[in-house]
Amino acid sequence: MVNENGKPKGMKQVLIERGLWRNGLNADCQLCKDKVDDVTRIDCCARRIISLQPDFMEQKSALEEAILEAGHKCIFYPKFHCELNFIERYWGQQKDMLVRIVIIHGQACNVLFLQL
Ligand SMILES: [Zn+2]
Repeated sequence: MVNENGKPKGMKQVLIERGLWRNGLNADCQLCKDKVDDVTRIDCCARRIISLQPDFMEQKSALEEAILEAGHKCIFYPKFHCELNFIERYWGQQKDMLVRIVIIHGQACNVLFLQL
């Protein structure tokens, strides 16, 4: 997606080359800026049209590509669902273990537990 100078072509040029550009098409629209989700809206603006192209949809982020190239798995958590984050399970298990220690060993560990 770069021109002969090695610079990015831009949305308009890519859409022209694919035969998807039409006169009067805006770069983006207010619905897309506001992230209004509507699967029936497929050609409201250039940004929406190009974002629905299969090769653009399959493109991974630079971060994800770097992680995969290093031989690791890349798993993104759903946004705004901290309960699904693995670290929450880890901390929950640690708290549970401390409570069990207090129950088994009694009051002396309870003081230690309250300091944590
Ligand atoms: Zn739009």
